[in-house]
Amino acid sequence: MTAPVTRHPALASADPEIAALVAAEEQLQADTLRLIPSENYVSAAVLEASGTVLQNKYSEGYPGKRYYEGQQNIDQVESLAVERAKALFRMDHANVQPYSGSPANLAVYLAFLKPGDTVLGMSLPMGGHLTHGWGVSATGTWFRGVGYGVRRDTGRVDLDEVRDLALTERPKVIFCGGTAVPRTIDFAGFAEIARESGAVLVADVAHIAGLIAGGAHPSPAPYADVVSTTTHKTLRGPRGAMLLSRAEHARAIDRAVFPGLQGGPHNQTTAAIAVALKEAADPGFSDYAHQVVANARALGEGLAARGFDLVSGGTDNHLLLIDLTAKAVPGKLAAKALDRAGIVVNYNTVPYDPRKPFDPSGIRIGTPALTSRGIRASEMGAVAHWIDLTVEAARTGDEATITKVRAQVKTLMDAYPAPGLRVA
Ligand SMILES: *Cc1c(COP(=O)(O)O)cnc(C)c1O
Repeated sequence: MTAPVTRHPALASADPEIAALVAAEEQLQADTLRLIPSENYVSAAVLEASGTVLQNKYSEGYPGKRYYEGQQNIDQVESLAVERAKALFRMDHANVQPYSGSPANLAVYLAFLKPGDTVLGMSLPMGGHLTHGWGVSATGTWFRGVGYGVRRDTGRVDLDEVRDLALTERPKVIFCGGTAVPRTIDFAGFAEIARESGAVLVADVAHIAGLIAGGAHPSPAPYADVVSTTTHKTLRGPRGAMLLSRAEHARAIDRAVFPGLQGGPHNQTTAAIAVALKEAADPGFSDYAHQVVANARALGEGLAARGFDLVSGGTDNHLLLIDLTAKAVPGKLAAKALDRAGIVVNYNTVPYDPRKPFDPSGIRIGTPALTSRGIRASEMGAVAHWIDLTVEAARTGDEATITKVRAQVKTLMDAYPAPGLRVA
């Protein structure tokens, strides 16, 4: 491998193979149009914080109540992260220790349910997350998962259906939010149903936390008992998660995370979360969040004008779910062709998908990462054009067009360098 490795000199001399792969990944992230809606580019500051000696420290417990000595600095790091999280999301309590979104949600189950209890969440093929009670997940085998969906005609959640399910199934917990939801989540509507049915409402805002922080999506704070979020999607922090809650649930949440589920927190991640939260409180982040939404809307319009079928007809947030049935190209074939064109997406089921999850009808795309590079709505027509050309080329087997698109993508990427990357 010939990739330059001098950016991480100690790594390059200790392990040239890994160093070369890291350098190659950096180049790949620089050169490609990254449209996976759960991905982003963290700032150089977040990247630096997550690669610090804080990772050498064990600190089971919480600030001021640790099981190990030597917490003079770590306690302050975690307290800063907690205070910033509470202020940004306007919730009484924050726990910043969950290792990632899935363990954060598992901690919610531990806090509020017993094995066999019922949980109501959006079902996976309709856009929900595995951890909202889907069968192959521990949350669907240890607990009784009941799923709601979206309406076939509107592609949107039907709150009347959710209410009927809540009142007949009597879940202990209701999850709202998901991974392939292009529309605004009606937190107030869900809260009313949770109140009527006596359930705890958990808003899983993993995808949209950055939009909420930036004021580009309504906040769950007045409505949700618990807010679960990853920190690495639109929030643009390190890979990690947080659980925020009303004061009355603080103790249950903290005990569920530690000692219920986890051991020592990843302090280098906690520091990077604190940095990301500081960045997200900056007025510039609000501009970013609104631009993410404006870019997604413009991209959706560009795609719709080229005959693409958008689930729910468009988007309110950072994400578009595209049903490729009318284009006669399966999602996986399209995703692989787009990858060869330097456009990175994921294939995805669409609601009521007649195809199998490993080879579904759709693709899912989003604008958080490209917006972090400073790309604006005026470029979305070109992006829609490239997607159109590539999907058509996938259908006809036209590799020459795919190669041409890749060169044009590279030119645009060179004009908008990504934050945090050290490639020239
Ligand atoms: C991404 C996501 C998660 C899980 O996060 P991981 O960090 O991948 O475990 C949970 N819920 C929702 C809605 C998500 O989008």
